[in-house]
Amino acid sequence: MTDQPSRTVATSQSLPLPTPKSSDPARLAADIVDRLTYRIGKDATVATQDDWLTAVILVLRDRVVAKWMESTRETYRREGKRVYYLSLEFLIGRLMRDAMTNLGLVDEMQEALGELGVDLDLIRQLEPDAALGNGGLGRLAACFMESMASVDVPAYGYGIRYQNGMFRQQIQDGWQVELPETWLEHGNPWEFGRRESAYEIGFGGSVAVDDADKCTWTPAETFTAEAFDTPIVGWQGKRVNTLRLWRAEPVDPILLGKFNAGDHIGALRESNKAEALSRVLYPADETEAGQELRLRQEYFFSSASLQDIIRRHLSQFDRITSLPDKAAIQLNDTHPAVGVAELMRLLMDVHGLDFDMAWDITKRTIAYTNHTLLPEALESWPVPLFERLLPRHMQIVYQINARVLKEARATGTFDDAQISAMSLIDEAGGRRVRMGNLAFAGSHSINGVSGLHTELMKQTVFHDLHQLYPLRINNKTNGVTPRRWLMQVNPALYDMAREAAGTDIMSDLDAMQALDTLADDGAAQERFAAIKRANKERLAALTQERIGVSLSPDMMFDIQIKRIHEYKRQLLNIVETVALYDQIRSHPERDWVPRAKLFAGKAAASYHNAKLIIKLIGDVAKVVNSDPATRDLLKVGFLPNYNVSLAEVMVPAADLSEQISTAGMEASGTGNMKFALNGALTIGTLDGANVEMREHIGAENIVIFGLTADEVAQKRANGYDPAEVIAASPELEQALHAIETGVFSPDEPDRYRDLIGGLRSSDWFMVAADFDAYANAQREVDAIWRHPARWQAMAIRNAARMGYFSSDRTIRQYAREIWNVLP
Ligand SMILES: *Cc1c(COP(=O)(O)O)cnc(C)c1O
Repeated sequence: MTDQPSRTVATSQSLPLPTPKSSDPARLAADIVDRLTYRIGKDATVATQDDWLTAVILVLRDRVVAKWMESTRETYRREGKRVYYLSLEFLIGRLMRDAMTNLGLVDEMQEALGELGVDLDLIRQLEPDAALGNGGLGRLAACFMESMASVDVPAYGYGIRYQNGMFRQQIQDGWQVELPETWLEHGNPWEFGRRESAYEIGFGGSVAVDDADKCTWTPAETFTAEAFDTPIVGWQGKRVNTLRLWRAEPVDPILLGKFNAGDHIGALRESNKAEALSRVLYPADETEAGQELRLRQEYFFSSASLQDIIRRHLSQFDRITSLPDKAAIQLNDTHPAVGVAELMRLLMDVHGLDFDMAWDITKRTIAYTNHTLLPEALESWPVPLFERLLPRHMQIVYQINARVLKEARATGTFDDAQISAMSLIDEAGGRRVRMGNLAFAGSHSINGVSGLHTELMKQTVFHDLHQLYPLRINNKTNGVTPRRWLMQVNPALYDMAREAAGTDIMSDLDAMQALDTLADDGAAQERFAAIKRANKERLAALTQERIGVSLSPDMMFDIQIKRIHEYKRQLLNIVETVALYDQIRSHPERDWVPRAKLFAGKAAASYHNAKLIIKLIGDVAKVVNSDPATRDLLKVGFLPNYNVSLAEVMVPAADLSEQISTAGMEASGTGNMKFALNGALTIGTLDGANVEMREHIGAENIVIFGLTADEVAQKRANGYDPAEVIAASPELEQALHAIETGVFSPDEPDRYRDLIGGLRSSDWFMVAADFDAYANAQREVDAIWRHPARWQAMAIRNAARMGYFSSDRTIRQYAREIWNVLP
């Protein structure tokens, strides 16, 4: 439906487009009942809330379809260039409110449902949170999809339709327990299955070479990739793009021969193997487990997407050689990097191009976004595994490598160590294919996601490749979509900003600047404070309901929500919380600022320390929350199952946003942007996009502390001794001592012995080194809080100055500087 299938039906271009459906409330109500009756087969008198939700989504989807077809035809007619965003993760969350606001149907739908006696807010909460991602990288892909539609870039997102996305987190006895997320349980009314768009994906087997050096790969196993399309609506319904997710299917669903011979299990083996391919999302930070399946997933979705891209190109244009002029492929991290070799294979083995021509086309078509400098997250695959699964691609990788290393040698400026750093094969300790180097070699653009991260990329991971190809690395600082992360989650603040600006701030977030002039205005401050208070009351109700912790909206809501990882330093936060707890008890007479310390986040299932940190937060919460001495002054809470929907409630309710990663380790962060846009102050390190946020917000409106990235690197190089630092900080020593001797874990006094021992002996993440600076910064935050007018003014300025961090700006930069598409 979204595609122009082939030139032979080009005459269909002259067929009229479907008539847009009415948005009159009475008509909406009638249509909802119609879908309920004829599509779901339910009588309105017995329909469940889930049925109503499905009916409403179907009605909204109908309102999207006409525009979707129009957008697709328009791109076809203009012979325009398309953007293809390849990502193993899309953390899209719920779509109903997104579609409703972008179509401008919120009031109409509210009225229609009112007539039917259905509560919109209630059914909205029933929509499953599509959690096809781990965290920031997947959420970025979702913001980008929405922004590409909003700024009118013709785009397709490509990924995997995981049957079970990110696990559901339960906290049992303080420990994280992972449960499968069953988001497809009630079906997915947003998507259209496209049985006709299916591709064969091979693994293993052998490669034959004929006399003309033409290679033919005969895979040992073959699966089918089947497409499912979800329409993504841009702001004001301007454009509708497609998110195409692949599901793996067996070529033969059942081997009847085996079945009839009585081998009922063997008959379904193919089917089970296929199912595994699109079954679960791999957790981030999972380094060893399930390696082979992960590589299979990466190849599976990269190959299906590239076959689809080439099929679409050839159905409209005659020559494969014009691909770079009509298609821009963006790799979201190295997960689709095997696509470099796959595109080469398709161009050479299927479309008959020679290596040079194929290599030129590949490099002009593909671009790559790097998301991390953490060595353990830089993907590499053992050569034997790669060769066994993808024998033809292994040959191509060697061929590419020979080309790159020849170019490097030809310059005469690199020594052997530099040459081996550039190699696509890591020869040290078991040969491995370096996916980052493969992605770099096969791309015309390699971008980092914040200014600092991009500079560090040049100095570290890609130091030598950058010398060889100095024009390729560029920066594209991340952003977030203001439709979801301001308008939908904080409608009252949105109204206030819109009234101040007098323009459509959702099309131009820079217009939020209008709030700036109101920052010191008493009435504006009062209005802002009332909005924040209402958001805090909503979160307090949720906290009470979910974890039984009661919070007063008079407290400062101090929030750290993000994946649990040592570099993000939830440990620094909770250790400082313990120190504060000690201080309050020692000096009850002081004028303490009441604080609610709130956390949420998932730990990778195999990440021991991250899970221990969750347990520690829970243990500290138990002691602190039940201590009458600190009752109204300090509360600690860990909200389970962090996901987009939970973030949507927590972000607008924050007074203080914790962005305290070890400098040099957070590539950008986007949580930091959501909070500031909603008028929270940031306490943070000079890491990732915090650096640029400080430039835009003004250093006087953000609380920055701690070591810089350079200082962290120096300390690590010079042999930093945490014991010295701890000895010099009595507050820190006291907090660490309490934790490691079981004050918070009397049931198991040694529970945190090793965790704290790690801080004392090596402290890779500089928790001890930054502790005093962090604690002092927190007291500085207290001082600001004691002057409400000052706090409100700073908070308003934060929201006013975040326009730059709209993902619309980011996408326009990609469009101009990488993709060469003109919106
Ligand atoms: C924004 C977001 C993230 C990224 O948060 P960071 O603080 O940048 O790590 C992760 N998960 C969810 C659900 C988000 O909405």
